[in-house]
Amino acid sequence: MICPVCAQEMAVKNAGDIPLDVCWGGCGGIWFDAFELARLSQAPPETMEWMAQVPVQEAQIPAHKLQCPRCSLPLMRRLFKPAVKVVVDECPGCGGFWLDHGEWDRIQTHSASAEASDQPDKLTLARQMYRQLCARQEP
Ligand SMILES: [Zn+2]
Ligand SMILES: [Zn+2]
Repeated sequence: MICPVCAQEMAVKNAGDIPLDVCWGGCGGIWFDAFELARLSQAPPETMEWMAQVPVQEAQIPAHKLQCPRCSLPLMRRLFKPAVKVVVDECPGCGGFWLDHGEWDRIQTHSASAEASDQPDKLTLARQMYRQLCARQEP
């Protein structure tokens, strides 16, 4: 798979049993296919420990809008979850997510503080909304 930011071939790294495409030695971005991000946000933190070790070259900001590395549709910027205020790129076609380097860590940090401060029913509501959003974007 080709990195949507720096147009180089990405490496495949396993997070538990899920293979992820990583821009190794480039921008350090990671592509998650539909539901992989949701599955991994439930996984133990060790599963994603290697993300901190991804070699990254200085940030390269693309002049163009990012395109889905799977289906070439323009990616849409949106909040990861209502309670997790990290903006990620999502493909409206295949439902995959592009995370720039460091965004996974920010999601983890924000999720932890959201869970600590939110009422449980509010959090459940946020999860339901997220699931509905995912379901809607199934082909
Ligand atoms: Zn890249
Ligand atoms: Zn796509």
